[in-house]
Amino acid sequence: MTRKEYYEKNKKEVKQKRKEYKEKNEELVREQRKAQGKRYRAKHQKEIKEYADKNRKELLIYAQNYRDSHEETKLDAKIRSAKSYQNNKQQILINQKEYRKTHKEKNQQWHHNYMARKKNNGSFIALDFSKLKKLLGNHCLGCWATDKKLTVDHIIPLSKGGTNFIYNIQPLCKSCNSKKSAYYPIPI
Ligand SMILES: [Zn+2]
Repeated sequence: MTRKEYYEKNKKEVKQKRKEYKEKNEELVREQRKAQGKRYRAKHQKEIKEYADKNRKELLIYAQNYRDSHEETKLDAKIRSAKSYQNNKQQILINQKEYRKTHKEKNQQWHHNYMARKKNNGSFIALDFSKLKKLLGNHCLGCWATDKKLTVDHIIPLSKGGTNFIYNIQPLCKSCNSKKSAYYPIPI
């Protein structure tokens, strides 16, 4: 029996199972969907761009219409979300704390970029840092270890007027970063 045949025969059951799976793994399914969309967009970049160029006018009208017709629901959604925030404040704060814990690197970068934006000192993105790490053979520039997790270090600290541009960034392991024993210039 092919998959399709099986599906046709057990439609109801399969649908129910899918629904249950989705409900149970909400987060995972959402992530998978996101990744799928990303892959699709990457693969069909050219077609998407061509389509958008060709249909720019229609797309703009469509977007405007969509915005107009969803104005009301957007407001409803805002009120709903504000209410739900009030009701679940405590849980949300716990979740945020948990999220920050599990997304430390992202959070760190956001913080660095935020500080730099505040000072108008440029910003680096995750890709730049991973490129830099690769370029330097994934060495910590303090102890030259390659088996340690590397963190972002500002050669001239932000607090002393350093920038967030990639040339002011060096990868250091955690212990070197806290000792700040390395001041090597980065060979880019
Ligand atoms: Zn080190």
